[in-house]
Amino acid sequence: MLQNICVVLVNVSHPGNIGSVARAMKNMGLTRLVLVEPRAFPHNEANIRASGANDILEKAKIVATLENALVSCNLVFGTSARHRRISWPLLGLRQCGTKVVEEAASGTQIALVFGREDSGLTNKELQQCHYHVHIPSNPKFSSLNLGAAVQVVSCEVRIAWLIAQDQSSKLEKNEVASTKNSELATVDELERFYKHLEQTLVAIKFLKPEKPRYLMARLRCLYGRSSVSRTEINILRGILTETQKVVDSASRKRKD
Ligand code: SAH
Repeated sequence: MLQNICVVLVNVSHPGNIGSVARAMKNMGLTRLVLVEPRAFPHNEANIRASGANDILEKAKIVATLENALVSCNLVFGTSARHRRISWPLLGLRQCGTKVVEEAASGTQIALVFGREDSGLTNKELQQCHYHVHIPSNPKFSSLNLGAAVQVVSCEVRIAWLIAQDQSSKLEKNEVASTKNSELATVDELERFYKHLEQTLVAIKFLKPEKPRYLMARLRCLYGRSSVSRTEINILRGILTETQKVVDSASRKRKD
């Protein structure tokens, strides 16, 4: 699903930043990098900063314009360090992560677009994006280094992805749990257990029939909220049977 997401860098000046971006992407499980007219690429500085994410650099696509980069994308998120004059659908970072993951999961091709180190994205480029995303940085010092900005956004995507995976595995677990629920003791089995329990409690003189108080009701309440399975009922009844045997043999001995 993360394969449906690409990171687009527009006119990067410093090749080292391309390396940092590749590293940030690989750390977060993203693999597709698209470079719009980079000033210098391939470049040794990029390889050095990628430190282990060179595969992403090798596979990076180089295109001449942002239009070319976005040609097969369905949904485009443009990032900006400043609030621009143009009013555009603006997503919070968290919302962006969730939306990217939701859409990517259903096969939508996503582009996360990042701008130039010195001037960011132009208004025209920002208007090619469906949503704008701003990292909530210090308003008096809002511009992150390009690699850091990609790191933050892709980390947010990863968190949303992990949450989505966790939810689907919980759903699966619930399915397993509901299969287990079918092994829950039936009402009838529970009733027979309560009867057995009551008899045993009387036999060991814990329950006095003339003065029962609410003991059985309380015990019903206890077992009732424990989702007792058939196997557990069998164990409990086994304990009661053994207890009764001990009580019976003790009373026989007393009679002898
Ligand atoms: N001086 C430029 C900032 C360029 S930073 C400007 O004022 O726009 C390079 C790129 O990093 C930006 O184009 C954007 O894609 C990303 N970036 C940096 N800080 C960001 C922030 N706070 N929120 C979103 N993107 C940010």
